[in-house]
Amino acid sequence: MLKIQSKFTAYMTVLLTVLMLSGCGSEEQKASIQVEASYPTAIPKGQLPTAIRPTHYTLDLQIVPADADFGGEVAIDLMFDVASDFMWMHGQDMTVSSANLTLADGKVVPVTYEQVDPTGIVKLTFAEKAPRGKAQLNIAYRGKVSDALQGIYRVKDGDHSYTYTQFEAIDARRAFPGFDEPGFKVPFDVSVSVPTDMEAIGNAPEISRADLGNGFTKMTFATTKPLPTYLVAFAAGPFDVVEWADMPTTAVRDRAVPLRGIATKGKGEKLTYALDNSRKIVEALEDYFQIPYPYAKLDILAVPDFAYGAMENAGAITYREQLLLLDDNSSLGQKKSYMSVHAHELAHQWFGNLVTPVWWNDIWLNEAFATWMSNAALDNIMPEHKFRQNMLRGSLGAMGGDGLVSARQIRQPIESNDDIVTAFDGITYQKGGGVLTMIEAFMGKEQFKAGINNYMKRFAFKNATSNDFITAIGEKSDNVPMEKIREAFNSFLEQPGIPYLDVKTATQDGKTVVTMTQSRYLPLGSEGSTDKTWIIPVCVGYGMNGEEHKYCTVLESKESSFTLPETGELDYLLPNLNGTGYYRYALGAEGWSQLFGNQSRLSENSMLSLTDSFAAAMGAGKMDFADFVKVAPTMVASESYRVATSPMSDLSFMYYKVARDEAEKAKISALSRKLYKSKLEKIGFDAKADEEGEVINLRGPLVGHLAFTGQDATVRAKLVDMAKAYVGYGTDGQIHEDKVDSNLISRALIVAVEDLGPEFGRNVLQHYLASTDGTARGRLLRAVASTNDAALGAEVLELVLSEKMRANEVGRALYTLMYDDDQRDAAWAWFQDNFEAVKARIPGFTQAAIAGLAGDYCTLEKRDEVKAFFEPRVASIAGGARSLAQTLEGIELCAAKVAFHQDKLTKFLSAQ
Ligand SMILES: [Zn+2]
Repeated sequence: MLKIQSKFTAYMTVLLTVLMLSGCGSEEQKASIQVEASYPTAIPKGQLPTAIRPTHYTLDLQIVPADADFGGEVAIDLMFDVASDFMWMHGQDMTVSSANLTLADGKVVPVTYEQVDPTGIVKLTFAEKAPRGKAQLNIAYRGKVSDALQGIYRVKDGDHSYTYTQFEAIDARRAFPGFDEPGFKVPFDVSVSVPTDMEAIGNAPEISRADLGNGFTKMTFATTKPLPTYLVAFAAGPFDVVEWADMPTTAVRDRAVPLRGIATKGKGEKLTYALDNSRKIVEALEDYFQIPYPYAKLDILAVPDFAYGAMENAGAITYREQLLLLDDNSSLGQKKSYMSVHAHELAHQWFGNLVTPVWWNDIWLNEAFATWMSNAALDNIMPEHKFRQNMLRGSLGAMGGDGLVSARQIRQPIESNDDIVTAFDGITYQKGGGVLTMIEAFMGKEQFKAGINNYMKRFAFKNATSNDFITAIGEKSDNVPMEKIREAFNSFLEQPGIPYLDVKTATQDGKTVVTMTQSRYLPLGSEGSTDKTWIIPVCVGYGMNGEEHKYCTVLESKESSFTLPETGELDYLLPNLNGTGYYRYALGAEGWSQLFGNQSRLSENSMLSLTDSFAAAMGAGKMDFADFVKVAPTMVASESYRVATSPMSDLSFMYYKVARDEAEKAKISALSRKLYKSKLEKIGFDAKADEEGEVINLRGPLVGHLAFTGQDATVRAKLVDMAKAYVGYGTDGQIHEDKVDSNLISRALIVAVEDLGPEFGRNVLQHYLASTDGTARGRLLRAVASTNDAALGAEVLELVLSEKMRANEVGRALYTLMYDDDQRDAAWAWFQDNFEAVKARIPGFTQAAIAGLAGDYCTLEKRDEVKAFFEPRVASIAGGARSLAQTLEGIELCAAKVAFHQDKLTKFLSAQ
């Protein structure tokens, strides 16, 4: 990126100089100077040059959803800042039948179209030089329809075929020749012709439809607002189109917005819940931004096979159908996922769509903001679901990846398409969301909000960079100087890792002096350097003389000290009040025990951050399992299910990875039951009517933990009964969604497949194959892939390469098998034999995940084996190099953690 940018800047400087000179030179001078300012001749490896750029597209497509290719004509209005006889743009795997350039004077110049690079770089050569100024490029072509969920792709659902699109980040170039980068943001006029019994959906409202008389109907959509190519979308097929009530005018919007839901044939009814909840989320976002929803209509599309959770296409958002098709039988988890993903995609209509990053290095401006904004908005309209707490859990979760030496930084330079692919990770979304929470707390909520409004207004329908954002919010800050905000932001955006604060207190003249020493947090076995500092906005909470206090400051150097204003004895010191800071801390034994001893005085988010820092101390080898067992009951006793369930992952790690034998496992199971059984008894295994969400959210993890790590026979037996009832096992053989607790059924099916053996597992497999319901298929597949039976595991593996398994289920099947101790080696061997075939089923943009498939191994021997297999192949996997580096590092760290804890665990357990 730096290289490309500097070359680019140099070129722009030449151009500017030329333009300035040309004002006062003769005609000859101008001509000779312009030759110097030539358009770059080398194939662009990063961003396209901007000296020839689009100002508008007209796109006309002919689509038959079952077909393997499609027809298209594109007219691109261009602006030439330089005269040139060639230009660069994007286009991938297209057969071009005609191409020409119409100059401003009406002259038509033939054009030669040539794809010069496998990543879709195209060189257009003009039969004569095009002068500076306007021109229109016309290309007629045929493109390929993908079966791997990228570009324009087809899906069969039941008896019908459908076509959808997924363009982010760099797949619009498979659908039409163009400038496939976020910085080129212009209006589109799109029309789509489909067989007469079908519908087509676009970004903008349909304005006309014409029967073409040849069995096709042509649907034309209104001109869009300026869009980057990655936000363009269309869909075609015999849809159920559910017209919903328009979203009425609001205090910030003076026009109603039509709202529709689109599902495959027969599934429209299940869109009611999603449609019903859309308006309030849009209104909550408008209320926050004080800017109206930017587009003329909103369609939400439930897509049966989709590579991601959802995609924020302007005005036509696509979702994996599990997220949108809901009813009374849907689990709370599914409903919350819908809320959270829906709010995320709707937040993108502002963050990303209304204001778009100039380049992919700033994709955090889309993803971190949509993550943060969706939780902040949902927290306002449905506080009972505690979305702010969920967001903190998300950013604490991202610390797992951020502890790796191979972690990305949030704002990562983009040097290749691989960097674009790997930019969409937990660091961008969850760490980014956490950093925004920290800056919001630092500035104050109202000023941060005013800053965001400032930014949105200034860059509406345009592009912006991180710097633009920080300037816009800094302008609205009264209490924190702009430069402080910039420094703090940049120190978190532009370096990877988690700040680790070693916190010490001392008493001086009756007052408490707090000293914080920064380093980088690294887990046991890491070979990275801890020598790193950040500019960290810090707020500590403390109890003194029975009262609660708060003190905020900014840490600007490796070691910082500050004196708390009050005089008195400290009850406790909480180094990360409400968990708003993106950092971990270490305390002495007394500090920890004061905090856990005052649990009832701490907020839920303070406790979440505390339990994370405590677990991190164990992860760094500063404490062991015996220390953990001492405080675990305090955590489990918490009223918050998020805090109460936090010790589960360490118990499971000890059970699955560290325990040497069945006897040790049994002791860990007994400990799990001792910690959690009474908690389940208190709320009961069976759900009651009108239960609070927090109880439902506790029951699922409790039941799961007791069934797996706890190996609790009673819980497992109940789950087996539930699974039998679900699939009508031994009765009518039909699926009964209404007979089971949807919040527990996924776990129930896994337990039943393990306990009832392969016959039941094959029954589950048959149900999976017969179902067209994405939610049911997902849970049935995960259950059957959890089998202990080698032959059944092999049957699942064979399905991976069959069309009976949806492309978006391939990852789930393989990851589930690789997660299972009984199946891992067989699945790994099979994967190595079928690597190319598996890769072909996974969309390029999500392929990086396959380099992480072996990440559940935990020994150095396996690390070497995984490395030896992937190293010669990794270049062929988009984003594979980074994914592999992280996987190998993860395996090493796992091995180091086991080595550290194993003897200590044995000693501890033998004393029990
Ligand atoms: Zn997003």
